[in-house]
Amino acid sequence: MQKTEKELRQDIVDIGRLVYQKGWVAANDGNITIRLDQDRILATPTGVSKGMMHVDDFIIVDMQGNKIEGRKERTSEIAMHLTIYGMRPDIRSIVHAHPPVATGFATAGKPLNLALLPEVIIGLGCVPLADYGLPGTPALTEGMLPYIPKYDAILMGNHGAVCYGEDVYKAFFKMETMEHFARITLVAELLGGAKALPRLEVDKLFDSRTRYGVKAKAGALPGCPVVAEDLEQDQDRFYVTRQELISLVDEAVRKRDVGC
Ligand SMILES: [Zn+2]
Repeated sequence: MQKTEKELRQDIVDIGRLVYQKGWVAANDGNITIRLDQDRILATPTGVSKGMMHVDDFIIVDMQGNKIEGRKERTSEIAMHLTIYGMRPDIRSIVHAHPPVATGFATAGKPLNLALLPEVIIGLGCVPLADYGLPGTPALTEGMLPYIPKYDAILMGNHGAVCYGEDVYKAFFKMETMEHFARITLVAELLGGAKALPRLEVDKLFDSRTRYGVKAKAGALPGCPVVAEDLEQDQDRFYVTRQELISLVDEAVRKRDVGC
């Protein structure tokens, strides 16, 4: 049964408190939205802590981002939410936050794209990294556009992350899975490097999605996730310094000169 607007407002209050308690936001960071119907989005306003919201704090905007209800002001990040809703009719809720470990990866320029854990491969495929874009401008979403149709969790370069799903709990759980994955990846890297699963095992996990009722889209593209075989190919590459390269070329030229 579909929830009433009152229940959905309470859902945002509850999820906001969890996002805040988990330390995924500081001060007034982050925003949460729910699609009420074809034309209306229920949204957290600007300037409120996500941990201390009341059901009356929210605003309602139309699909162009115009405020149609609510006392408080719109967040400048509402345009990103509207872009995602526009491109993904299957999505009914979006959570944007700055979870510190995943955001650390986004700040280091690293996607969360290794095939490491079954539940992440099944649920998210992988988490790509979108280029940085200035908040409050169209540039914020520009780098995300290629990823929105195919992924449900995206890292935003030097900023944070956005996750979305069929309801606000599903969007929240995707962010929780992503942040948990980021923490585990970080520990594995500290312990000498994570070991990716081979292609065959990753394919078996993708096949099991229907069994688990997972509708995740990610996984159809090469490199998402990066499997063991991809990394082996990488190992065949080698790297030289500029000086070593010059010496190698010099040596090759010298050998040729001698020959002729
Ligand atoms: Zn943000």
